[in-house]
Amino acid sequence: MKRVMLSLRARLLVLQLIVFGSLILLASPVTYITMSQTLRRDRDQYLASMARTVSAEFVREMESASTPRSSPLPCLPNPVLPDSPDPDAMHRPRHMLVCDELGQVLCSDGENAPLAPDAVRLAFQTQSPAYADVHWSAEFLRIIAWPFQDADGRTLIMEVGTSYLVIKGALRKGLLIMGLISAVAFLCLITGSYFLTRNAFDPIKRIIGAVEGIDEAKLEARLPIEPREDEVGRLVAVINRMLERLERAFEAQSRFSSDVAHEIRSPLTALRGQIEVTLRKERSSTEYRKVLEGNLGEVLRLSRLAEDLMSLAKGDAGVLHVRPVAIDLHEMLHGVLVRLKPTAEEKDIQLRLLAPEEVPFVGDPDLLGRLVENLVDNALIHSPHMGEVVVRLERDSAGITISVEDKGTGIPPEDLPRIFDRFYRVDLARSRDVGGTGLGLAIVQQIATVHNGSIDVTSVPGQGSTFRVRFPANKPSAPIDRHPAPG
Ligand code: ADP
Repeated sequence: MKRVMLSLRARLLVLQLIVFGSLILLASPVTYITMSQTLRRDRDQYLASMARTVSAEFVREMESASTPRSSPLPCLPNPVLPDSPDPDAMHRPRHMLVCDELGQVLCSDGENAPLAPDAVRLAFQTQSPAYADVHWSAEFLRIIAWPFQDADGRTLIMEVGTSYLVIKGALRKGLLIMGLISAVAFLCLITGSYFLTRNAFDPIKRIIGAVEGIDEAKLEARLPIEPREDEVGRLVAVINRMLERLERAFEAQSRFSSDVAHEIRSPLTALRGQIEVTLRKERSSTEYRKVLEGNLGEVLRLSRLAEDLMSLAKGDAGVLHVRPVAIDLHEMLHGVLVRLKPTAEEKDIQLRLLAPEEVPFVGDPDLLGRLVENLVDNALIHSPHMGEVVVRLERDSAGITISVEDKGTGIPPEDLPRIFDRFYRVDLARSRDVGGTGLGLAIVQQIATVHNGSIDVTSVPGQGSTFRVRFPANKPSAPIDRHPAPG
């Protein structure tokens, strides 16, 4: 677990470094190229404007001169030395020269011939400015050959050159600054990513540690609430809710197990007692028979308990075998009442069925029969002699309701909420006396649930109880057999 989490954190860290690191790395050359292009464009624009200004000045000077000059004259502004302390000086020309179409230099800052003869030729040909890069002494110059016309309409070329040192210096400075910024950005990225992922994963690490410390013996433990509304806070809340459910389920499970053990022990103790006492001396066959009959009662109780437990366990595991078929509920109820008639007659109880003829329904006849049988059985047990138990079947647009009503002992209100719990009995001794397992109503509820139904009870102590099972209008979820399956 720990290894997976760490690798996830490391992966996130590496991913962040790759993505943002690449962006930083990419930003530097892009900035450098843009800067260099801008500087070159500015410099070329500067050269053009300088050539335009100086050539206009040159024309004016030529016009005012009385006699034309036969030799090159230092008629242009002095070029600026490259190591001039004046920063503006970097933007001033390092070389100037004027020549005519024959290559004769009319005016220069010292050179006897154009430094970029190809550019000069091109400018004459196209009558538009041409640029060239040339080596000059120990320097590298950017030259513009600027065509212009003198007072006589002659085309001349003004050659202006500026040093590459301007751009080189600026770019070097820019590169240094970019390098520094990139280094700082990398540093921030590494530390930022590290702390970010650590902050993000620390709470998860804490949660894992806390959850690891919780085993089945400590299910009452809860994770410390994270004072945050984000995913981590929600995760803690979800885990705590899950622990609560687990704790309840575990408690119910262990309560159920001890209840089962208790329920099994009672008949076994009774059996053992009866057998031990009987074996102490020789008995007559009538006595043996009596004891064996008593034994049989306990064995029947045990096997009923085993059956009920099996049925509940199947329902819990979701493997309760439900075989839905098209049945007539009236017929099914009638059958159950016929089966229970002898029991009712023992107590002189009147068993009545109030149901419309033919109520088609889709359900498992065995399970539904058991449901009604359990309810009627309980009603008979808790009814007084000469009492009455009424089974009703009602049908409306919402579905079907089967109710079992008795005028018996009723159930105290404080017991009603727990009446469907496994092994819960209002009167334990009485329930045992009549062979109840305490699982009858739990099974009824389970059968109602697998048929998408629900059950409720109303009861008044001393007046009787009514159990109602409601089934929604049939929407079978399982395939339906047209003929009842064999019992
Ligand atoms: P049991 O096997 O004890 O009948 P059930 O789950 O069927 O178990 O019923 C649980 C308890 O509910 C019974 O022990 C009884 O106290 C009470 N009970 C069930 N049906 C009735 C009823 N019709 N009238 C009064 N009490 C009832």
